[in-house]
Amino acid sequence: MEFERVEFGKTYTSPLTPEEVNHYSRQLVLPQFGVEGQIKLKNTSVLLVGAGGLGCSAAIHLAGSGVGQLTIVDHDRIEASNLHRQILYRSEDVGRYKAEVLVERCSRSNPLSRMAPVALCTALTTENCLELVRNHAVILDCTDNVYARYLLNDACVLRGRALVSASALKFDGQLTVYNHQGSVCRRCLFPDPMALQAQSCDDNGVMGPVQFLG
Ligand SMILES: [Zn+2]
Repeated sequence: MEFERVEFGKTYTSPLTPEEVNHYSRQLVLPQFGVEGQIKLKNTSVLLVGAGGLGCSAAIHLAGSGVGQLTIVDHDRIEASNLHRQILYRSEDVGRYKAEVLVERCSRSNPLSRMAPVALCTALTTENCLELVRNHAVILDCTDNVYARYLLNDACVLRGRALVSASALKFDGQLTVYNHQGSVCRRCLFPDPMALQAQSCDDNGVMGPVQFLG
């Protein structure tokens, strides 16, 4: 399995290289961030589940900012109907695994990351979820289904990880952080997954944000 490539807890303590200083210069000059912030980012690891519209935006910004380890999990392949909002994919990518293409785009955007981003072209399951969550510091829920959302939530509670959860449908978006410094988890707010009338982008549509510019 590719999980061995994830090295949570391995601390990188060297000062920034000249290439890194150049690459990150615009955020390094922010006094609230600086070299200390950059090294914190370099030492952290993010598990991103779901390489759709939410995952594309999150992944490329995390990679660009210098997150040290990024693992992207998605078993879906790119479809033509994804391209209007999943903006890192191109028409020639249709049929390829989303996680694989997204990792390629992140690597090209920032070749300086501490570890190369990892693509896991597999579904999130009860077998792999706990281990994946344990091996990362921050967990991003960019999925589109109730099962994966509760699976991630429960794993984050068991492993003591913060869960950053987002969703988009029609013209709306939501962003929530669960299980962070004593805050509630998804199950505290919505105890019964079966009671949720979850809607999907496939059935109900979702607007690509770029179109609003017109
Ligand atoms: Zn809870």
